Amino acid sequence: MSKSLRRLPSVGAVLSQPELALLLGQMPRELVVRAAQQAVAEAREHLTRSGPESAPDEGELLAVVAVRAAALARRDGASSLRRVINATGIVLHTNLGRAVLAPEALAAVTQAGGGYSTLEYDMAAGQRGSRHDHLRELVKLVSGAEDGFAVNNNAAAVLLMLNTLADGRDVVVSRGELVEIGGSFRIPDIIRKSGARLVEVGTTNRTHPEDYRRAITGQTALILKVHTSNYRIVGFAAEVPAGQLAAMGSELGVPLLYDLGSGAVHDYALSGLPGEPTLKEAVASGAAVVTASGDKLLGGPQAGIVAGRAGPLAEARRNPLARALRLDKLTIAALEATLRLHLRYAGDPAGLAGRLPVAGMITRDTAELRGAAEQLAASVRDAVGHVCQVRLLPGSSGVGGGAFPATELPTWLVGIRHGEIGPDVLAARLREAEMPVIARIEQGELLFDPRTLLLGEPESLVAALRGACRLDPGAGAGPPRKEVDSYAGS
Ligand SMILES: *Cc1c(COP(=O)(O)O)cnc(C)c1O
Repeated sequence: MSKSLRRLPSVGAVLSQPELALLLGQMPRELVVRAAQQAVAEAREHLTRSGPESAPDEGELLAVVAVRAAALARRDGASSLRRVINATGIVLHTNLGRAVLAPEALAAVTQAGGGYSTLEYDMAAGQRGSRHDHLRELVKLVSGAEDGFAVNNNAAAVLLMLNTLADGRDVVVSRGELVEIGGSFRIPDIIRKSGARLVEVGTTNRTHPEDYRRAITGQTALILKVHTSNYRIVGFAAEVPAGQLAAMGSELGVPLLYDLGSGAVHDYALSGLPGEPTLKEAVASGAAVVTASGDKLLGGPQAGIVAGRAGPLAEARRNPLARALRLDKLTIAALEATLRLHLRYAGDPAGLAGRLPVAGMITRDTAELRGAAEQLAASVRDAVGHVCQVRLLPGSSGVGGGAFPATELPTWLVGIRHGEIGPDVLAARLREAEMPVIARIEQGELLFDPRTLLLGEPESLVAALRGACRLDPGAGAGPPRKEVDSYAGS
């Protein structure tokens, strides 16, 4: 053995270093031991290759190997589904989990998950009950419908209703509403999978009542209206309002299924944001069934709300598909708590904004956002002003989640440009931080929108930025990567 290799620490010695002892208390022992073994192996290879002259002394070597082992253990021990900071300003960012839940919803999840519950138990009778009953009264109250329940998501709600009411028969839809939502939900595909036959009417930009009337035959089971929630057709355009479709349907004996998508319960027009119909309005239009997402404007967990007439809903609950698409108890708990908040703060936008994060973020005051951006800009300047240009600029945030597609919410942004590191590299380093940050890049500038920053997150963002802006690339807190990686793949 060469002299320098004798300085190599044992795995046991590495494990007894304070940073690893700490990790042993936090993650599976096997994981930490494997990380220590790998760090020692890397050090051995490095020493073998570079010879004795470059080798640090024994104590220094132990410290470096321990730091590397801790970094490896943290990397391997990190959850796949991780908390991140959303600095994009997009409130219902589908890739980042859409709605941030209200504290009441989180508490309900903890309650329901940490013990047994009345999920399918009728307390009064002391016997088996139905999980669908938990949400019925609340959905009825927020929507004004005769009956209500919820399934896994809105795509599931649409699929279930199409299959229940139109399997083997025709569904009439406007060509202007054959939309794709996200990459995986296309109305024509869902109709096909439901067993129903799609009958397209009208054109992309204009569909008239007569188009529907001509297409309805003895084979027609449903008229489907889809709220084109993630885009708007502007200019020479015409669509038939839900109310008119429902009236025509009742005249011809064909019910209307209305896929509302965004699922507003709160009327955002009260907060100066017109254009998104509420569940109540959709039900009042006369649609037999309305479906909506739980995690868009409603501000709750992923779910699909089904509100409508008692007959079709009872039939849907008996459909075997309803079993496959059912909600779990954690979601029922969170959705119930979220719907209760809507009821408690009905007609009180400020009260709702104070309790429901989605409502709070969408309706944040521009002056308040400016103040938040100024404060953030000042902390960012303090932390990285010596290497970055930092400025405050007006901009706009999007609601996301396919709601308010044509509405830009005015906001204030903090923009930074690093003298030597490009925005893509900087953004990538921010994503690698201990608390990852997702930001926007526009015209070579990295932008942070305070609209979607939660309590305490500006501080974490600044910490991540401090790490990311180092010329010597070490993301986040902790020792710079150069040191941590000094034996990696050299
Ligand atoms: C978002 C949306 C859906 C899909 O809802 P999920 O809850 O994501 O399944 C379906 N239809 C419309 C109109 C939508 O906006």
